[in-house]
Amino acid sequence: MTIQFEVVRNPSPMPAAQRAAVLENPVFGQHRTDHQVICVWEKDKGWTSARVEPYGPITMDPAAAVLHYGQEIFEGIKAYRHDDGTIWTFRPLENARRLQRSAVRMALPEVPEELFIESLRQLIAVDGDWVPEPVNEKTLYIRPFEIAAEDFLGVRAAHRAEYRVIASPVGPYFTGGLKPVSIWVALDSARAGKHGTGEAKTGGNYAASLMAQNEGYEQGCSQVMFLDAETATYIEELGGMNLFFVYKDGHVVTPSLDGTILRGITRMSVIQLIKDRGIHIEERKFTLDEMRAGINGADIVEVFACGTAAVITPVGQFKSREETIGSADAQPGELTASLREELTGIQYGRVQDRHGWMTQLA
Ligand SMILES: *Cc1c(COP(=O)(O)O)cnc(C)c1O
Repeated sequence: MTIQFEVVRNPSPMPAAQRAAVLENPVFGQHRTDHQVICVWEKDKGWTSARVEPYGPITMDPAAAVLHYGQEIFEGIKAYRHDDGTIWTFRPLENARRLQRSAVRMALPEVPEELFIESLRQLIAVDGDWVPEPVNEKTLYIRPFEIAAEDFLGVRAAHRAEYRVIASPVGPYFTGGLKPVSIWVALDSARAGKHGTGEAKTGGNYAASLMAQNEGYEQGCSQVMFLDAETATYIEELGGMNLFFVYKDGHVVTPSLDGTILRGITRMSVIQLIKDRGIHIEERKFTLDEMRAGINGADIVEVFACGTAAVITPVGQFKSREETIGSADAQPGELTASLREELTGIQYGRVQDRHGWMTQLA
């Protein structure tokens, strides 16, 4: 499939000096670049048009399906500037495939892999100057997403959809440096049930997580951990990150993918890096009871969460309305810090990319 991109340049992009000021200290999600990508799909025609145009609001009919029935999916992927000025991204084919799986689950059209990757190249071709210099973990966060754009109030999969890409320069996700975060354990709400949409990267899962996130904020926690919806026994994941537990004897455990956990690309990559070191890693069902016993008995010596936005983040403490596990002033663990170092090293081109994970965009 070849789809031609029409490019309409923004006649008034942000002036270079102002952009430089934004890139000095970008706050996650606060600023967007000068352009966006828009591709339109129609049921009887397939993907019909693709263009790059000035960033701006979406004009849509109030009856557009996404506004009523929530057919929306998204991806998160970063562009990294290397020390030689070139711009790269991390495992884009995995994001393309995951977007397709999310699309199937949410009855949206699948964006062809080539279209996905070309959309990143097209955006970087016009907004490459927005990729920050490789210091202080700065990157350009790219947000590809798909929405049901048909104006029709009947309940069925929309016959018109849009695939769009926007981008936002970002610094570290958590502003406290590599300081362990506190996690709120949701005992009264779940984000995903069996055969539900937990494995799809869809806005609804996030909407379902926000009530617990608000509870967590009130308790001084920055993220929420969800348990299995049926029995509240097994640890699943955070609202937007996967979890790893490191034992004193060296082995590592991460909850297995069972359809309710998002297939994190960082998770997949961290598992590979752990295996590369000859460390034993178990992907299995893991209970809250096991975690509590492990942390209280000092058998679990490190806990970390991972995802594209926050990379690898140490976890210090878990709190719920019933208990507190671990300590808020724990130090980041050794394995946590060194995996983080290795992964970001690969992404910024400073550590050899032995698995061929990096793709050059410009
Ligand atoms: C995106 C996401 C993750 C992390 O996935 P990455 O591919 O590593 O960024 C984890 N959990 C949820 C619920 C997510 O939406």
